[in-house]
Amino acid sequence: VSQVIDISQTLEEGIATWPGDTPFKAFWVMRLESGDSCNVGSVTMSLHTGTHADAPLHFLAGGKTPANLNLETFIGEALVLDLTGVREILPEHLSALAPRVNARVLIKTQTARADRFDDGFAHLSEDAAGLLAELGVRLIGIDTPSVDASDSKQLAAHKILAGAQIAILENLVLAHVMPGRYELISLPLKLAGMDASPVRAVLRSL
Ligand SMILES: [Zn+2]
Repeated sequence: VSQVIDISQTLEEGIATWPGDTPFKAFWVMRLESGDSCNVGSVTMSLHTGTHADAPLHFLAGGKTPANLNLETFIGEALVLDLTGVREILPEHLSALAPRVNARVLIKTQTARADRFDDGFAHLSEDAAGLLAELGVRLIGIDTPSVDASDSKQLAAHKILAGAQIAILENLVLAHVMPGRYELISLPLKLAGMDASPVRAVLRSL
């Protein structure tokens, strides 16, 4: 029996929002206690709230949207690397990766939190993003709001990853996950025309 490990943030009021972006808000459209026939909930939020996949349209005009991302990428063996405390991820931090072996890599940094946006979170250097491309990685996930630094306007890491068709997961929760090999399941919603999608990301022990 394989154990399911939830690596998703909880979507609830108070969840961290990128400065200036749409915060999470939940409300009721119908309410049993008001005499309606059922409860019907609704939410508003940025598509980058909580654990999510960035689609290339986020940073490339005409890029792919969540509805046409390759789903194979989001299911399969993943390696969790523990880089706790590292602020700038450099190629030397990725020395555990082997060419064409590690299709999916999840990086635990513990430099961000779900209930408060802090701009000092860890990010990939351009060289590290380039190395992931060279190694043939298909998906990179991180436990921070972005693979680039919070003050990056160029989004260099995003663009290098997208250029190599590497999928991006952000705002993972990895504090409770031991480094090692797992099966990842983290499907984006079939959301047309947009730039990102929430995912429910889980790991299963192999
Ligand atoms: Zn994002």
